[in-house]
Amino acid sequence: MTEYRFHLQKYRPGSKTVCPECGRKACFTHYIDEAGRISFPDHVGICDHINSCGYHYTPKEYFRDNPSAREILNGQERDGYTSITVKPSTKTPSGKETEIFCLPSDWVEQSMRRYDINPLYRYFTKVAGREETDRLFRLYKVGTSRMWNGAAVFWQIDAGGNVRAGKIMGYDADTGHRIKTPFSQVSWVHSVRKIADFRMKQCLFGEHLLSNTSATKTAKPVAIVESEKTALVAALFIPDFIWLATGGMHGCFNSEAMQVLHGREIILFPDLKATDEWRRRLQMLESICKRATCSDVLERTATDNQREAGLDIADFLLMEDTPQMILTRMIQRNPVLQTFIDDFGLELVDAGRTE
Ligand SMILES: [Zn+2]
Repeated sequence: MTEYRFHLQKYRPGSKTVCPECGRKACFTHYIDEAGRISFPDHVGICDHINSCGYHYTPKEYFRDNPSAREILNGQERDGYTSITVKPSTKTPSGKETEIFCLPSDWVEQSMRRYDINPLYRYFTKVAGREETDRLFRLYKVGTSRMWNGAAVFWQIDAGGNVRAGKIMGYDADTGHRIKTPFSQVSWVHSVRKIADFRMKQCLFGEHLLSNTSATKTAKPVAIVESEKTALVAALFIPDFIWLATGGMHGCFNSEAMQVLHGREIILFPDLKATDEWRRRLQMLESICKRATCSDVLERTATDNQREAGLDIADFLLMEDTPQMILTRMIQRNPVLQTFIDDFGLELVDAGRTE
């Protein structure tokens, strides 16, 4: 059952009725269905007189006691109906009260399949092999969308587990580059699903990974990049950091969204050309984080052409073929090789990695 779909009716004059238990007037609040598809009988609700009466009959108890109602509900949920949740008045660390709109978390789970049509997944299997790609996509909860015959979904799940947004992006499965012609393939789950009045509040991509480790001395430092794919590539090659992405130059690189990094050690890895812009935000980060630095390793090593192209750290990490990429090319030339590998359960050993 969806947690927030059924809730107590908001108070307005006349909304409270006679309690079915103690019989007192105007003290009984009914439960309602946010979706307006199930109407509960009059006795599903709660009495104001918690101590002297204590009557409380919840939707959960109602569905438990009424198998036919439960079947209707199950049918609706099978049809893919799930409600959007709004968490009102959540206090952010800055003390501001804000409304956070959340998408149902089962949408995330439901999207984590059909990787056969996911171009980014297919690209990653060529770079890293299936096992590593599966691990990475599970870790970052990357999903699949049917848009444009298959696209990647980058869910933005905050440290509290709220699904803030789902960004859908199209990729070329061969190059791993984004598809930008004839139009830029980018969309959002809430607009594709036509959710009216959804007020998106973005968080860092990968932010849910912060909830596993508190900001202690032993916590991994956090590395921040611009694009979601870059965070995935970097997490593959440099697992000593927790890699997060701002989701674009202006995605969520603001003081409010960055509060989640409180007490953390962070290092920024800006795309070439964006270094100055990111360095300007260090001061804001220093007021939040334990330590904040901006890497200039790309600026120092890049050629003029690379600088012009605005490469990012993923481009540098992928500059040399991985053993998996070499193997994939060999298999493309000689498909029998794959049969050998499968038959003999051969495993690719990467001497360069110590994991
Ligand atoms: Zn009562």
